[in-house]
Amino acid sequence: GKWVYTFGDGKAEGEAGMKNLLGGKGANLAEMSNLGLPVPPGFTITTEVCTAYYDNGKSFPAELDGQVKAALAGMAKLTGKTFGDPANPLLVSVRSGARASMPGMMDTVLNLGLNDETVEAVAKASGDERFAWDSYRRFITMYSNVVLDIDHGLFEEALEDYKERKGLHLDTDLKAADWKVLVGKYKEIVKKALGSDFPQEPEKQLWGAVGAVFSSWMNARAIKYRELNGIPASWGTAVNVQSMVFGNMGDTSATGVAFTRNPSTGENALYGEFLINAQGEDVVAGIRTPQDITEKARIEAGSDKPSMEKEMPEAYAELVRIYGILEKHYRDMQDMEFTIQEGKLWMLQTRSGKRTAKAALRIAVDLASEGLITQAEAVGRVEPGALDQLLHPTIDPKAERRVLTTGLPASPGAAAGEIVFNSDDAEAAKKAGRKVILVRVETSPEDIHGMHAAEGILTTRGGMTSHAAVVARGMGKPCVSGAGQIRVDYAKGTLAVGNTTLKAGDFITIDGGNGQVLLGEIKMQKPELSGEFSTLMGWADKVRRLKVRANAETPDDAKTAREFGAEGIGLCRTEHMFFDESRIQSVREMILAQDDKGRRAALAKLLPMQRQDFVQLFTIMSGLPVTIRLLDPPLHEFLPHGEKEIAEVAAALGVSSDALRQRAAELHEFNPMLGFRGCRLAVAFPEIAEMQARAIFEAAVIAARETGKPVIPEVMVPLVMGKPELDLVKARIDAMAKAVMEESGTTIDYQVGTMIELPRAALRAAEIAESAEFFSFGTNDLTQTTLGISRDDASSFLGSYTAKGLLEADPFVTIDQDGVGELVKLAAERGRKTRSDIKLGICGEHGGDPASIGFCESVGLDYVSCSPFRVPIARLAAAQAAL
Ligand code: PEP
Ligand code: MG
Repeated sequence: GKWVYTFGDGKAEGEAGMKNLLGGKGANLAEMSNLGLPVPPGFTITTEVCTAYYDNGKSFPAELDGQVKAALAGMAKLTGKTFGDPANPLLVSVRSGARASMPGMMDTVLNLGLNDETVEAVAKASGDERFAWDSYRRFITMYSNVVLDIDHGLFEEALEDYKERKGLHLDTDLKAADWKVLVGKYKEIVKKALGSDFPQEPEKQLWGAVGAVFSSWMNARAIKYRELNGIPASWGTAVNVQSMVFGNMGDTSATGVAFTRNPSTGENALYGEFLINAQGEDVVAGIRTPQDITEKARIEAGSDKPSMEKEMPEAYAELVRIYGILEKHYRDMQDMEFTIQEGKLWMLQTRSGKRTAKAALRIAVDLASEGLITQAEAVGRVEPGALDQLLHPTIDPKAERRVLTTGLPASPGAAAGEIVFNSDDAEAAKKAGRKVILVRVETSPEDIHGMHAAEGILTTRGGMTSHAAVVARGMGKPCVSGAGQIRVDYAKGTLAVGNTTLKAGDFITIDGGNGQVLLGEIKMQKPELSGEFSTLMGWADKVRRLKVRANAETPDDAKTAREFGAEGIGLCRTEHMFFDESRIQSVREMILAQDDKGRRAALAKLLPMQRQDFVQLFTIMSGLPVTIRLLDPPLHEFLPHGEKEIAEVAAALGVSSDALRQRAAELHEFNPMLGFRGCRLAVAFPEIAEMQARAIFEAAVIAARETGKPVIPEVMVPLVMGKPELDLVKARIDAMAKAVMEESGTTIDYQVGTMIELPRAALRAAEIAESAEFFSFGTNDLTQTTLGISRDDASSFLGSYTAKGLLEADPFVTIDQDGVGELVKLAAERGRKTRSDIKLGICGEHGGDPASIGFCESVGLDYVSCSPFRVPIARLAAAQAAL
């Protein structure tokens, strides 16, 4: 087979479309070569080798060796240097590159090919001894860490010791002779740890590094990252071997990363950071604070370090030329890595840049406005789930801000929580239900789980492209990075700024929008949405077919939903209206009533309150449909349980504690989600449904009169098994509608429909549709009843099911298409056969889940209904489903 693909010198064997085989980095290096851009020559070992490597007990395919040798010979031709030649050595980098980008998750080795001989040749050829020995010590450190598994800290210690003894402060203070001494010490460290010498033969070094990159595909942090991002292990990684270019060859050399547009705000301006006389890893690691690329960014940041635009105008002009070409070619914002070796710029990577939701929106809208992509493509460019970030809270502008210090605004949104200093503590606190801010000097890929558990991340080192910043943006978590005035003492568990000292457990707030770190837990407010947001939503609305409604019962939720573009209410859960302090007493009276008469008296107290609720909802949703579901509660939830509470409630109600305790015991259920619920209540106590129907119709009359617009209530009966139950309840509703119309002299347009929440109801849909004017799929209950998994205690074992691949995803989050979906499809078909214009919607949690919305589109439902904050996500997902 063909295992190796070469690139360089304006041509390549691969191209951008071959990501599956070459990985993202390899495919794009090939594409850039084909575009004639300056790419150091090299080759990619395919992802298929990775798969074969694991399939064959970590050994390589037979032909690989020969193909690598041939590719190295090709590089020799292009560079005039030969790998392993002691007089004129070619040095290479070895990097991973998977199909999907996994920033910092896998290993890289630079300067490979250096040894005791070649280092002298490099010194001679470059005329720079210091550079040669600096590169060699970097190589020994990286190689030892990545390939030989020797603790990186040992080398750091040796370096710190040396500097202290010599009275030197910065790495840049060290001269060639110093690095030479240190290389000797480093080799001793290796010998001690390994029991043998640091490998000197370049070929052996190369295979060691290639094997290490493949092995890093299965390291713990890569596995965790794949798990969090849904990347299958079977994809494997490619390995890219590329001739080295050096950013550490003195002051005319540099290395950097740049985005063609601002990844945080989306602004159309080159954005990035670079470091003079450094190698790539220095930027990502955030060890030295980098300089801005453009003069504009430098001024905005108030930095006194010169920009690349000023300091290296020629390389800057070349970068500007190249980024223009790349953006036009890829038709998307690019994230590029480059190195400048003695004034000449080389491209090491390009890929579609990760961006915040805010930037994604702006970039999509701008690219469409610039004519680079169509409006429909723009709609497809923003991941619906990412909109969550925009809907994130920010700090209430009226709240008092006690600013401790200011770092970099690395990822937007604000967050408050207790300070924790390590990722395990963050995870433990989250499990215990506490909110935390993870505070680190800098983060590394080992911190992924802690970042995930934290509300926000604060680091004291590192720039906007440091690990913490990049990962937090991807997760949509607020992050402040590089807050350099903070001193963290891990051992004591404290942080200090000026003369304030805080300890683990103290509350802070971070503002990822401006980089502030604030004392205490500060009040947040709802987000405001940008112009691009409504533009893109407008384009999405043009494309989508599915309507989007909201699940809402309070006036606040209904208002939010309408602001977010909900086209009605798809589910008003009336039981949520009964828990209110002022009415729970009447609800309890109703439950405890001995007879019809007592129950009617209690219901009479509830009627005006319910009516008022509905008047408000109808008014807020004026002109739009509102689906109101009859009471669907486990009744025992309304009753007290503790002895003290029972006594209090009994006294208030004028009944004996015994009677109350007994009734509570009667109603108690182990799994209340499948008991005396739904329409079963209306069957046993029809007067409850009648009260609710009266409240609905009277409210419709009032709201129609007040708003001057017709109100279209949709009365929904929950949890039916078949037509007879629905008919029984529907007869009461219709009678009540008739009564209210006669009393008020007003006609009301209304519909009666049902939820499909039980498999039997789905199967009997044809018959049910004779009576029901609409179906709303209650996929929460339909999931628990179809899978036989209780909604309330699924979490204890569901994790093992998804981890073992027995279920693709949590079925309460993303609809189980094969089972629950099949029932939805069948019920929709059967319902339509009886009543061709039956209205079909979904109101389970799945109504706000992008993958499930795709399914709803495919079975042709009329609308989805979801929580108010998910309405924009649903609008966008519905549009993408229709594309
Ligand atoms: C459902 O079961 O999907 C539903 C929307 O109803 P609830 O969640 O209130 O049971
Ligand atoms: Mg339900």
